[in-house]
Amino acid sequence: MELGATVCTRRRPRCGDCPLPAAGACAWALAGHVGVDPADGSAGVGRPQSAFAGSDRQGRGRLVDALRVGPVAEASLAVACGWPDDPDRAQRVAAGLVADGLAGYADDGRLRLP
Ligand code: SF4
Repeated sequence: MELGATVCTRRRPRCGDCPLPAAGACAWALAGHVGVDPADGSAGVGRPQSAFAGSDRQGRGRLVDALRVGPVAEASLAVACGWPDDPDRAQRVAAGLVADGLAGYADDGRLRLP
């Protein structure tokens, strides 16, 4: 079950249908739904996510797709991210993947999946 899409929606959470309070997993429900739900992105406090098109998330996804095919040379990172004119941005996104443990640099300098 996709709780975030079907039960714990931002505008109208269906707490009565939700299994999380019984599991002690919703602090807001356990506190009696007093005040605003403190969990970021959950019922009543969610903010719309920024646009995906043109975002770093999109470039990151493109880069991961490229890495699934094989290692990516540093000179090709910007193209792999879909920003051929912005290598600095691609380097930053690649660094984020490395920092998150989702990619690493091989001895030959190419970015690769772990
Ligand atoms: S606010 Fe808590 S109890 Fe209500 S639907 Fe969301 S997770 Fe379930």
